[in-house]
Amino acid sequence: MVNTRPLNRIGAHAKGHNRYSIGICYEGGLDKDGKPKDTRTPEQRAALRRLVNELLTRFPGCKVCGHRDLSPDQNRSGKIEPYEWTKQCPCFDVVTEL
Ligand SMILES: [Zn+2]
Repeated sequence: MVNTRPLNRIGAHAKGHNRYSIGICYEGGLDKDGKPKDTRTPEQRAALRRLVNELLTRFPGCKVCGHRDLSPDQNRSGKIEPYEWTKQCPCFDVVTEL
């Protein structure tokens, strides 16, 4: 795991949300044809879960979501549906998994 930006510096991951968020990325997320796919290894899954738990301990009450979950709610339903995703990452359902 590599920390590429100190937590006290504003990130550049999710436009409009960087001032109050921490971006976590994993290497992969595409199949051999370049299409979005959950390609995480068991080690990546474990490391991601560990990191999120550490961050939630440090910043209790934070919302954990995927980049795609920050897409605009075009139909104002209150839910970001797959057709509204402007990005596919992280290619798995963060809310149910983490
Ligand atoms: Zn992303």
